[in-house]
Amino acid sequence: MSNIIDGKAFAEKLRGEIASRVSKLKAQHNLTPGLAVVLVGEDPASEVYVRNKAKQTVEVGMESIEHKLPAETTEADLLALVEKLNNDKTIHGILVQLPLPEHINESKVLDSIHYEKDVDGFHLMNVGLLGTGGDGVVPCTPLGCIMMLKDRLGSLSGMNAVVVGRSNIVGKPMANLLLQESCTVTIAHSRTQDLAGVCRGADILVAAVGRPEMIPGDWVKPGAAVIDVGINRIERDGKKKLVGDVDFASASSVAGAITPVPGGVGPMTIACLLHNTVQQACRQHDIALPDA
Ligand code: NDP
Repeated sequence: MSNIIDGKAFAEKLRGEIASRVSKLKAQHNLTPGLAVVLVGEDPASEVYVRNKAKQTVEVGMESIEHKLPAETTEADLLALVEKLNNDKTIHGILVQLPLPEHINESKVLDSIHYEKDVDGFHLMNVGLLGTGGDGVVPCTPLGCIMMLKDRLGSLSGMNAVVVGRSNIVGKPMANLLLQESCTVTIAHSRTQDLAGVCRGADILVAAVGRPEMIPGDWVKPGAAVIDVGINRIERDGKKKLVGDVDFASASSVAGAITPVPGGVGPMTIACLLHNTVQQACRQHDIALPDA
């Protein structure tokens, strides 16, 4: 088996499973999960993300509702829309695309989404549930990483896992998920001493830093599983290129398994958003998640 973890193929398989669950929910419970995506302003990157999310939502058989609001929308108007969606029984997931314009308080808006309609796992209730091993919704990017790791390695119990990066959206939830799988977890960050030495002890190395190719192959333990979350746009030899936080050329000759950039973690993120929406729809209707 190749040591490359194909995130694109894995995401396609996951979307197939989600489509099968959605068709069972429709047939057995007359329930069509609905995802509302709210975009404020005209950030071109956000518009692309929102378009892709809506397309994939429809492709798995779910309902997609888009709300595009002008950049000058007030915080009060946005909060009023979220409240309306919180009370709409046809909507099971609400996603407010970030970043929001500067005059709007992001955390206030995210926390106004009912935690049972939070599909990002950013609501404090879901953060708390993850931290205490409860049954909440998990942020999409780390969820995709843990799914790929378990698929490739089976049980992760007892492994040494190092997560480089401690953000609320990737590093911390990733560390919590690895802890739930009974790994021995180290979280490294910009103040960590001897980062190379820390990384060399990892059976599972997750890089979520945002620094192009900062982790070279000689920081990777031979045979380790390497998950590269980083997305960095660089220019090399006059060409624009997307690279991760790991130097793929040197690390892929040492690692037992490794995600490439692009084509690794990235494609899994939207698939996990769809998974979270189905999970929330089931939770709201007190239905067990159907088999795929
Ligand atoms: P943040 O900027 O929020 O966090 C970066 C983390 O890296 C911080 O904890 C920081 O430490 C740490 N760090 C910075 N420099 C170093 C260093 N020299 N050595 C060790 N640690 C360092 O980033 P995010 O977590 O939001 O994102 C990380 C990367 O993942 C980015 O490239 C982003 O684009 C990508 N990403 C990809 C997604 C996907 O779908 N594939 C989704 C989300 C993010 P400290 O806390 O001490 O400052």
